[in-house]
Amino acid sequence: MPVTASAQASVITAGTSADLVKQAEASVMYVVTRPGRVMVRGKGSYLWDAEGRQYLDFIQGWAVNCLGHCPPVLVKALGQQAKQLVNASPALYNDRMVQLAKLLTDRSALDKVFFANSGAEANEGAIKLARKWGAVKKGGAHEIITAWNGFHGRTLATMSASGKQHWDELFEPKVPGFTRVPFNDLEAVRKAITPGKTVAVMLEPVQGEAGVFVAEKGYLQGVRKLCDEHGLLLILDEIQTGIGRCGTLFAYEQYGIEPDIMTLGKGLGGGFPVSALLAKDHACVFEQGDQGGTFCAQPLAMAAGYAVVSEVIAKKVPQKALSRGKYLMRRLKELKAEFGFTDVRGKGLLVAVDLPKEKAADVVAQCFEAGLLLNAPRPATLRFMPALNISNAQVDEMIGILAPVLRKVLA
Ligand SMILES: *Cc1c(COP(=O)(O)O)cnc(C)c1O
Repeated sequence: MPVTASAQASVITAGTSADLVKQAEASVMYVVTRPGRVMVRGKGSYLWDAEGRQYLDFIQGWAVNCLGHCPPVLVKALGQQAKQLVNASPALYNDRMVQLAKLLTDRSALDKVFFANSGAEANEGAIKLARKWGAVKKGGAHEIITAWNGFHGRTLATMSASGKQHWDELFEPKVPGFTRVPFNDLEAVRKAITPGKTVAVMLEPVQGEAGVFVAEKGYLQGVRKLCDEHGLLLILDEIQTGIGRCGTLFAYEQYGIEPDIMTLGKGLGGGFPVSALLAKDHACVFEQGDQGGTFCAQPLAMAAGYAVVSEVIAKKVPQKALSRGKYLMRRLKELKAEFGFTDVRGKGLLVAVDLPKEKAADVVAQCFEAGLLLNAPRPATLRFMPALNISNAQVDEMIGILAPVLRKVLA
């Protein structure tokens, strides 16, 4: 981990990593075990901690910083907006909200947008919209079919919609009305449809948190057809797959289908918290007071989203993600024989490898020490979600850190 003293010189930090971690243990509520280093600065594909150690970032805020850390367009947009209007009111339109709504509806198959602050909140809105639609147009149908191993967020309703194995026992009782089926199994969806009860099918085009499982083309097309035949809404959770991550602005574009409802988050603000619930006109049934939120469509978030999505489109970032993703997969496949990877899979720059042993957490920990941030979504799976504008040289740099760690851990 090279220390770049010159780059650190202008950074003001609240203390050393050791001091801050000690303070954190006393005052930050425990929800997850974090490394004992505190991050203070980011630029492009790199992060620096309080001691000036550099990390090559293949997590990027959990597939959030699509343009890398502190991209100039985002920094500029936030600075300008902060001087002009930080917050108006959720009960008033603001100019940035209108701009971003127009951009997203122009560029997608959806007609209207509701803005929120997190992915879970957008999905919660999608669930509410589907239930309202069922109440108004389907005689009270309210059940939503979702997939095992799917992930839709951490509110009670979105946890209930998710199919994470160990979540079943947590925070009971859950929100009822979700039927889980195996992913990529069209027959299971067909069998789960209950006339008069089922209102929607909710899926991720690629199950990211589950370990990067890509929906087959025939599967999503088949689900779309089933939804049409039975008069159901197709809800696509594109919170992780959207904004170029999979090689097109939205992943659904690669399937030759259109959802009735789509949610966005993560990459939408390039690091700034913002999410969106989009729907076709026929599904927009919210009435006065049905949905809202204090910070929804907040001008800083809208300016961030507009700057990021405009840049992603103007610089053809999705196409870059596609070619970089291919390069990343090729480099990983070159290591397949040496390390016995049992699978290398992905779409665009959402990529995973399966290790022959349940050692992914050890690999992640040792990579961290060696200056590389990686994620282990499962005990034997590593996930790669770098900035979409990463270079081939940075992919090579990642492989240069990962390979020796694998040699040690898998020996
Ligand atoms: C991250 C994620 C969410 C939840 O988003 P938050 O912003 O953490 O609430 C929902 N769905 C998918 C597919 C995600 O990847």
